[in-house]
Amino acid sequence: MNKIGIDLGGTKIEGILTDEKYIVIERKRIPTNQIDGYSSILESIKNLVLELTQESNEKFSIGVCTPGALSRVSGFIKNSNTQCLIGKDLKNDLEDILHYNISLENDANCFALAEAKLGAGQDHNLVFGVIMGTGVGGGIIIDGKIHHGRTNIAGEWGHHCLHVGGNNCYCGNKGCVETYISGPALEKNWHQLSGLNQSLPEITKNLDNSNFDTWKNIFLENFGLALANVVDILDPDVIVLGGGVSNIDFLYDQGKNAVYEKVFSDLIDTPIVKNKLGDSAGVFGACML
Ligand SMILES: [Zn+2]
Repeated sequence: MNKIGIDLGGTKIEGILTDEKYIVIERKRIPTNQIDGYSSILESIKNLVLELTQESNEKFSIGVCTPGALSRVSGFIKNSNTQCLIGKDLKNDLEDILHYNISLENDANCFALAEAKLGAGQDHNLVFGVIMGTGVGGGIIIDGKIHHGRTNIAGEWGHHCLHVGGNNCYCGNKGCVETYISGPALEKNWHQLSGLNQSLPEITKNLDNSNFDTWKNIFLENFGLALANVVDILDPDVIVLGGGVSNIDFLYDQGKNAVYEKVFSDLIDTPIVKNKLGDSAGVFGACML
């Protein structure tokens, strides 16, 4: 059976039609119309599905990758950068207009699933996929399947407490990982140290700036601690990094060493690797649901 994957992002909605082996047959991209709200997003997804399937009479499955977490109780979207989705029953509403069963999953789980099956996590049984971008999230894949956990929060390492009484987080807690190693958090820390307003790619070119080593050491300390906690509890076969922050090269040598130093074992060789699918992990993960 063919597969349709839809990645519902804050600025664009991407859709792919693939065969059973995830070979892409058709790919389309449209802007996300947040201004006209939820009903316009539903309509856009419907049109995307129609466009992707117009040349084919074959049956297909549909998976949708969404920003934000899904409530286990209601199935509704709990928090999302695409604000008009919050509190909406996207799965049922899409099923109503498409007359198809829809599988829905958050972006971190889709990322981890796609990387485990087609990307940098292939050939490993237990994959921990990490997204470090505007927010910080993660997903756990065991033997090719998403591990949701009893409370549906497995892998949500971005909101475990790194520093008691630390930075305020939008989630209501203090000291969450996300407030230290997300892209905006790293840029904020650089601004506090250097007075400069720079983007992450710009910051990493500041090798001659006297504040750079301080910024980098704080970053490595937090990155190391955050992932060492994951290794101590989950002990994955591989950790795959994604999101804008994953483009920083020193995470794969010095960052990895910072993790190793903090893990509760003197023998550790867990690979910490960069994603292979880039921005396409979301749509491929959606196809695999
Ligand atoms: Zn938080």
